[in-house]
Amino acid sequence: MIPGSFAYHRPTSVNDAIRLLADFGEEARPLAGGHSLIPMMKLRLATPEHLVDLAGIADLKGIRTEGGDIVIGAMVTQHEIVGSDLLAAKIPILREASLLVADPQVRYVGTLGGNVANGDPGNDMPAVMMCLGAGYGVVGSSGERTIPAREFYQGAYLTALKPSEILTNIRIPVPAAGHGFAYEKLKRKIGDYATAAAAVVLVMSGGTVAACSIGLTNVADTPLWAEEAARIVTGSTLDAATVKRAVAAAEAITSPASDGRGPAHYRTKMAGVMLARALASAKARAH
Ligand SMILES: Cc1cc2nc3c(=O)[nH]c(=O)nc-3n(C[C@H](O)[C@H](O)[C@H](O)COP(=O)(O)OP(=O)(O)OC[C@H]3O[C@@H](n4cnc5c(N)ncnc54)[C@H](O)[C@@H]3O)c2cc1C
Repeated sequence: MIPGSFAYHRPTSVNDAIRLLADFGEEARPLAGGHSLIPMMKLRLATPEHLVDLAGIADLKGIRTEGGDIVIGAMVTQHEIVGSDLLAAKIPILREASLLVADPQVRYVGTLGGNVANGDPGNDMPAVMMCLGAGYGVVGSSGERTIPAREFYQGAYLTALKPSEILTNIRIPVPAAGHGFAYEKLKRKIGDYATAAAAVVLVMSGGTVAACSIGLTNVADTPLWAEEAARIVTGSTLDAATVKRAVAAAEAITSPASDGRGPAHYRTKMAGVMLARALASAKARAH
């Protein structure tokens, strides 16, 4: 349970962090809150020789509005998301989902950037970001780019991020005023990763669903954007037959592992149950 030895670097600018990552190449890893990386180092599942701590970079902090988007710095902690009045007013699903991440101790230190960059299918925020249509601002030695969350995840711990790039911010288009939302997560106990979870954001108009987006957590190697399920419910009143068809469409794209959280078939069914609950809750909250 003791990590191998490593050199510790604490840059104070994004440019310095990128230069360090470029200089040390595959031997270096960015360090954010350390609540995924350090446990992996203790288990020797990760053995970086250089840790580039992002905690001293002021540009990676803060939550701000930019036009119709909200931009969240990569080093904003999950605790800060829970406490943000701006996010509670504009994108309340972030608070709901963050409160279901781990426990207060982890949330005080764990960052949004670390949660979405990690690539662990068990992380809760990636599916929420896919549901919201977020974009990840990334900077590397070859410049800046934005990667849509829906294109970021390529496999377990495999993302579109290049080794010398860092995620600087998460840009989220603010959903329509009065939208409904829900993040429903089944877990074995407080602080656990999801057996299955579903994120829903929808807009109701005249009793029918005018727009809907759905994300699923921990039921495949990557978080899932359930595009077909959302298409099925759009235009409906969310009647039981439509919800059943949407649940079936969502279940069809899952491919969870059988593990300590249950056999694959059970986890697929629980993804469907979480989706049905999230749809009902989102509809009830929409106005
Ligand atoms: C007991 C426990 C329970 C947990 N339960 C949950 C849970 O229920 N749900 C959940 O979602 N998470 C859970 N976590 C994980 C927790 O949310 C982590 O904090 C999070 O996954 C990673 O954030 P971090 O800031 O700690 O990142 P780190 O651990 O520092 O980094 C994680 C990975 O992302 C990379 N990285 C970090 N920041 C950047 C960046 N800006 N740019 C590029 N790469 C970067 C690192 O190099 C590393 O590979 C749990 C953790 C613990 C210890």
